[in-house]
Amino acid sequence: MRKFNFSAGPCTLPLEVLEEAQVEFVDYHGAGMSLVEMSHRSSTYDAVHMEAMAKAKSVFGAPDDFSVVFLGGGATLQFAMIPMNLLAEGQRGAHVVTGEWASKALSDGSHHGDLYAAWDGGSEGYRRMPAPEEIVIEPNTRYLHVTSNETIGGIRFNEFPDVGVPLVGDMSSDYMTRAIPWDLFDLVYGGAQKNLGPAGVDITFIRNSVLEETNRDLGAYLRYDIHASKNSMYNTPPVYAVYMVGKVLRWMESQGGLAVMESQASRKSGLVYDAIDASDGFYRSQVDRRSRSHMNVVFHLPSEELDAGFLAEATRRNMSGLKGYRTVGGVRASLYNALPVEAVDALVELMADFRSANA
Ligand SMILES: *Cc1c(COP(=O)(O)O)cnc(C)c1O
Repeated sequence: MRKFNFSAGPCTLPLEVLEEAQVEFVDYHGAGMSLVEMSHRSSTYDAVHMEAMAKAKSVFGAPDDFSVVFLGGGATLQFAMIPMNLLAEGQRGAHVVTGEWASKALSDGSHHGDLYAAWDGGSEGYRRMPAPEEIVIEPNTRYLHVTSNETIGGIRFNEFPDVGVPLVGDMSSDYMTRAIPWDLFDLVYGGAQKNLGPAGVDITFIRNSVLEETNRDLGAYLRYDIHASKNSMYNTPPVYAVYMVGKVLRWMESQGGLAVMESQASRKSGLVYDAIDASDGFYRSQVDRRSRSHMNVVFHLPSEELDAGFLAEATRRNMSGLKGYRTVGGVRASLYNALPVEAVDALVELMADFRSANA
């Protein structure tokens, strides 16, 4: 039996996509071989690849003046590639430090460019996103890096800050689950494994005028312009991950696209936040209401014993992946696009039952 899978990533994928992939695995559409066995230069793979790239743009609503590239190395490689490619001599990158991922992006990128924290929520325990007027931009700043959703702390930008410099966004954990104001962004990136497919591929959107000016003095794999000019086939792409992303995007389209993903995320997370708010403090969330994530709902029970009891009962009820991140503890329910609302209903029922048995 399939579980209700609340894992933060890699995460649940649509059952239809998994079943389709299973049917196609050994003999891809009569080719006499699996897609993972054939040349990435074959016309068969080329069609799969180009469709996935086109759908990434169309489902996300990327404007014509953006290119998309599919890369290995996950979102993590982007932490370094962004300053390498975007910062010219004398330019700096600003970072909004809103949690563990934003901190990693800043520290990792600092090996490759002059970066600074334009706001840091660490002293408050990363409970919220900043208002635009709290973000301090220094001279010679090329971009402001934001993490649209902090997967571990469970906070998100409800609105992206317009501070007069272009934004670079790590959207790994709410990728293609919300519309974004493209005019504010020069670059958007994220690993696929939280909303879009299996691990193994990062998807980066980059403004074409920016591509023209990126640093050329880098190894080939590290250059956005090379990947873009070769349609992300400069070297062997992660073919299976790309194929699966294409299928998930097609599934998203069949569900009604981005607007439906956005409203479902709001509805699903709203059900869990309602259960927290209605619990008379039995379930506690440290997250500021205005910054509540729609993807990762983090909460605690009154004691670690009750946290553990709750998780054990969740396992008995066929739910998995609810244990909080190791530095945070408690419970984290990740509600990505493919998580059915029935899973959320089951969680909310558990929350009500467990509370009446233990409050
Ligand atoms: C998971 C995650 C990452 C890291 O992604 P990888 O693909 O594993 O490198 C980066 N940023 C955020 C916000 C994430 O949730």
